[in-house]
Amino acid sequence: MDSTKKITKLTLEALKDKGLSPTPKNYEEEFLNQANSVDKELYEKLIQENVLSQIKYFVENLSEIISPSIDFNNDEKINSFLKKVNKNPIELLNKASIEELKEITKGRIEADRKVLKNKTDDIIKLSNLMEKYFDKTILESTNSSEKFDVIKTELKDLNISNASYRELGQLQSKLIDTIYSIEHSMQNNRVELNESKEQFDSLNKKIEELQKELAVVKQEKSTDFLTSVLNRRAYEEEVKKIEKKHEAFDSNYAIVFYDIDHFKQINDTYGHTCGDTVLKTFGQILKSLTRKEDVIARYGGEEFLALINYEEEKELYKYIKRVKNLISTTKFKYKDIGIHVEFSAGVSFRRNYKNYTDAKKKSDDLLYQAKKEGRNKVIFDNGVVL
Ligand code: GH3
Ligand code: MG
Ligand code: MG
Repeated sequence: MDSTKKITKLTLEALKDKGLSPTPKNYEEEFLNQANSVDKELYEKLIQENVLSQIKYFVENLSEIISPSIDFNNDEKINSFLKKVNKNPIELLNKASIEELKEITKGRIEADRKVLKNKTDDIIKLSNLMEKYFDKTILESTNSSEKFDVIKTELKDLNISNASYRELGQLQSKLIDTIYSIEHSMQNNRVELNESKEQFDSLNKKIEELQKELAVVKQEKSTDFLTSVLNRRAYEEEVKKIEKKHEAFDSNYAIVFYDIDHFKQINDTYGHTCGDTVLKTFGQILKSLTRKEDVIARYGGEEFLALINYEEEKELYKYIKRVKNLISTTKFKYKDIGIHVEFSAGVSFRRNYKNYTDAKKKSDDLLYQAKKEGRNKVIFDNGVVL
């Protein structure tokens, strides 16, 4: 019986003794075991074959182990090494090969590190550019199209390393597309914005014109057309205001009720138009002598009402004297006629009455009294007569 047959027999018996089933692995192990004691030469040969097959297996997988994991470039050094050991796997175990393998591994680590750095740099470059692009000032500035052009050029010229071109090159072209479309939409928006601005400007102009017209209408609404002092309606509004001020701050004001003396005679003598002119001049004189914070209004016919703010009563005497003085020294002109005009008035100080109505009635009563007592005089509620 040759040794192989003998070893086979012994192997099967041993497996049976040990209670092991003859699987390829169990069989192989036990076969080597039996060969070791039966045929030393065969045993050595088998061991050698076994090691060789393991080396072959290792060499087959070596390419995966030593190729840089992220650098996709072919490395000549690695290729020729792999070729060599594939041809003769046992070569792998000599010292020179091991040194070569060490060298390749070192190179692989460096290559991976370089690729990693390149990729990081590329990402930084792209993100810097994106940051610039999304900078608010660009989106808001009026000459942004120039800036867009700069960015587009920079983005196109962005030198992305070969290592990351596969991933980042796509991102780069997507960004370029995005910038084009955003620029386009911004241009459209700007056109719309300009159109809206024009509409807005013209509306604004119309509003300004309307406001001016409104101011004129308001003025006309509150002004007496003949004398250009306040009309009766506006006067009533002013009464409300001055009353509020009086209630809130206990401020003093006086009511002056004017009435031109014998005005009917002027109409009768020189005509209604002349009467109108006299009224106009009378109103203008009163207006010229009345301060801005005071009120002068035509109450009706040839009657005028004034609301005069004061601190001391003597201010009112001064005011009335000025009016009397100017009216008496003025020749009211109509055509080539000069007319002398006189007036009477009643003056009440608001603080002497519980309300405006009573104060107003008092000034009216005093005016009536002045007429009765011969006209051309002003009677105050404190008894002063000017
Ligand atoms: P007295 O001294 O008592 O005040 O006498 P008077 O003539 O001034 O007063 P009266 O009330 O008798 O007459 C006022 C006249 O004023 C009567 C009216 O026709 C006239 N009149 C009223 N409004 C106007 C106006 O707007 N224009 C003109 N021209 N006359 C007017
Ligand atoms: Mg009158
Ligand atoms: Mg009169």
